[in-house]
Amino acid sequence: MHRLLERQLKKMALDAGKPPSGEVWKHFLQKVDEAYYQADQDRYTLERSLTISSEEMQSLYQQLKTSSEARMSAIATAFPDMLFFQDEEGRFLDVLTSRPEELYVPREEIIGSRMEDIFDEDMARRFHKLLSDTLSSGSLQQIEYQMPNGSGQLRLYEARMVPMDYREKGKRTLLTVVRDVTDARQDETRARLVAKAVNAAREGVVILDENRRIISANPAVEGICQVALLDVLGSEMSALCSAGGPLLEEDAWLTLDTVGRWHGEVQLYRPDGSQASLWLSVDRVQPEVHAPLHYVILLNDISELHASRMELERLATHDPLTGLPNRVLFQDRLEQALLRVQRSGLSGALFFMDLDRFKIINDSLGHQVGDQLLQAVTSRLHAHIRQGDTLARMGGDEFTLIVEDLKRPEEVVHLLEKLLKAFRQPFTVGQHELRTTASIGVSLFPRDGATAEELIKHADTAMYSAKDGGRDQYRFFTEKLNLSAYSYFDTEQGLHQALARQEFYLVYQPQYELATGELVGVEALLRWNRPGQGLVSPARFIPMAEMTGLIAPLGAWVREAVCQQIAAWRKEGAVPPRVAINLSSGELVKPGLNASVASQLATYRIPAELLEFEITESVIIERGDVAYQNLFGLTEMGIELAIDDFGTGHSSLVNLKRFPLASLKIDRSFVRDILVDVNDEAIVRATIVLAHSFGMKTVAEGVENSQQLEFLREAGCDRVQGYACGKPMSPRGISRLLAAPGSGCAQ
Ligand code: C2E
Ligand code: CA
Ligand code: CA
Repeated sequence: MHRLLERQLKKMALDAGKPPSGEVWKHFLQKVDEAYYQADQDRYTLERSLTISSEEMQSLYQQLKTSSEARMSAIATAFPDMLFFQDEEGRFLDVLTSRPEELYVPREEIIGSRMEDIFDEDMARRFHKLLSDTLSSGSLQQIEYQMPNGSGQLRLYEARMVPMDYREKGKRTLLTVVRDVTDARQDETRARLVAKAVNAAREGVVILDENRRIISANPAVEGICQVALLDVLGSEMSALCSAGGPLLEEDAWLTLDTVGRWHGEVQLYRPDGSQASLWLSVDRVQPEVHAPLHYVILLNDISELHASRMELERLATHDPLTGLPNRVLFQDRLEQALLRVQRSGLSGALFFMDLDRFKIINDSLGHQVGDQLLQAVTSRLHAHIRQGDTLARMGGDEFTLIVEDLKRPEEVVHLLEKLLKAFRQPFTVGQHELRTTASIGVSLFPRDGATAEELIKHADTAMYSAKDGGRDQYRFFTEKLNLSAYSYFDTEQGLHQALARQEFYLVYQPQYELATGELVGVEALLRWNRPGQGLVSPARFIPMAEMTGLIAPLGAWVREAVCQQIAAWRKEGAVPPRVAINLSSGELVKPGLNASVASQLATYRIPAELLEFEITESVIIERGDVAYQNLFGLTEMGIELAIDDFGTGHSSLVNLKRFPLASLKIDRSFVRDILVDVNDEAIVRATIVLAHSFGMKTVAEGVENSQQLEFLREAGCDRVQGYACGKPMSPRGISRLLAAPGSGCAQ
């Protein structure tokens, strides 16, 4: 096969069958090996490692001489290049290649031909020059040229020519190693493009050697980490990070060295003190056991992404209005707290807080004011809780608070008192001074529940009990409450059907003029006779009706019933007194109240003077436009207005003066204590004097005995209402009173 070599070997009387030996041979094979390995890894480096020096080529030749045929063909197969043997005139002596099909001219034709027989004129001239340069210099020369390959494809070749110390027929010989470098050049171009891209990339690229030292990094790294590349080359990864540790934790390295790949988020601390979140993708690159090991790291600055993710997370877990944890996060925190107490043996408490008059404020002053109030409430609550406590907003006007690490559950009582007190101070929202109290239900854990749900349910139950008990107070959960909670919901359910089932009726309580003892009015009081359960107190179901919105139809029913009753009394021939109707704020903020009242008066042909409406102070303070309009509209119709339960709210008389109020009802609690508490006595006296100075009449509520009557008479109170003068009674009872005047409260 290798005619030339065979001949040469024979000539030199060397044994072609002798096994190859020597360092050079080994070195050459190693080189081929490496080249193949490198080609596999990166074709770009193929060329570099295959650059054989002229000494090596000489040695190669020497070795070829001493090789067996088998060995030579092995070399030919292993060697990626074509080997051309020529004499000093350029005549081809032999061609050695593993891929003869790629030769432009068949091998047989080449052997024995001259260069000008094979190449065109221009190319032949170039090769002749290469040949003469090689001979004259005596060292390796090279050129690059383009030529079609065996299948007609134009390829780029590199020829390296070296003179040999061996003569053929007296002529000097040369060896040319020709390599197709088309792909290598392409790869080189590609590699250059890749390098450019890496340089221009926004992602940081860092390459570490096996000692985890930085051997290369792209300019983006400078921007991301705020370091100079020159300063970090040769350093460990931690050089990229000003503080806070090694950037890549040991377990990341462990993963890398076992799985070969790691990615994750790390925190970067920059020299200027700023912080960034980086997403690192690290690859451990070692294609073979003995190949050099590298780590290739991609750094992505995901701070913005991170920030928006955090924001998303915050939005999902926090209430946008107050910034407090929402129901979702609260539930999670409560579960955590439960786990903690199980471990610590301490106790915790869950407060369920509901603002007492929020709905009214929201309805009458508008949602914007309502929102601001909630914010004000939030910051006030914040001022009273500890850092570890979780304050959350469950929605609407419901807040929850988790208090942990209580040695004794009673410790929370102090906090509860503090919170209630804090609520009682007015909140300034815009030009409004708003007053709202809170009802707080408390469940203790682990005592009151093993799960978050149970605890919430029980705190909620306790909260309703606090509301039931008159608001502005706290209640602890007890099993008994659980029962009454059941009855609460049961009552609420029953209330919904009560109107349709005609379970309501009205009773009337007389009011007397103190000076004359004359019956001057009656107050209509609602009664609910619940089948199978008897009478349900309005103190219980009216707040429920207000909360559920049922108050509107219920109020309308009361007005209708009162009108019917007045008409009925008149039909009997009696002269009915003025009837006072209690008006809830929920009714007052509804537009259309006036129209409804006007049409009822018209339907039953009742003069407006026969009606009076009782409203509470809160309605006046939390005035909304609609409430205003309704109130003025009513007085314009000729209906009188009275302030109910005066003294229990927070309004001052001066405040009330701006309204066309005819009378003021002094709350039962003052009347009850006038003979016991000098303060109350003074308050009642002052109220009467002030009311008179504003042109209002005073009505004392809940008068139960003659001493109170005597005091009130002496203090100048105008009218009285109470058990001492007459309990709430049926319409027939009132008819009897009307028929027998003078039997009232004039002792
Ligand atoms: P209120 O307007 O202050 O009504 C007076 C309450 O005091 C009535 O209770 C009455 O029975 C009670 N009372 C009268 N004299 C005395 C007394 O000498 N001693 C004592 N201890 N109590 C006396 P009632 O009927 O249980 O009503 C409770 C509350 O329910 C009322 O308080 C009122 O706010 C509300 N309410 C009753 N009927 C209606 C209604 O038709 N509409 C609205 N919106 N609320 C109503
Ligand atoms: Ca009343
Ligand atoms: Ca009252």
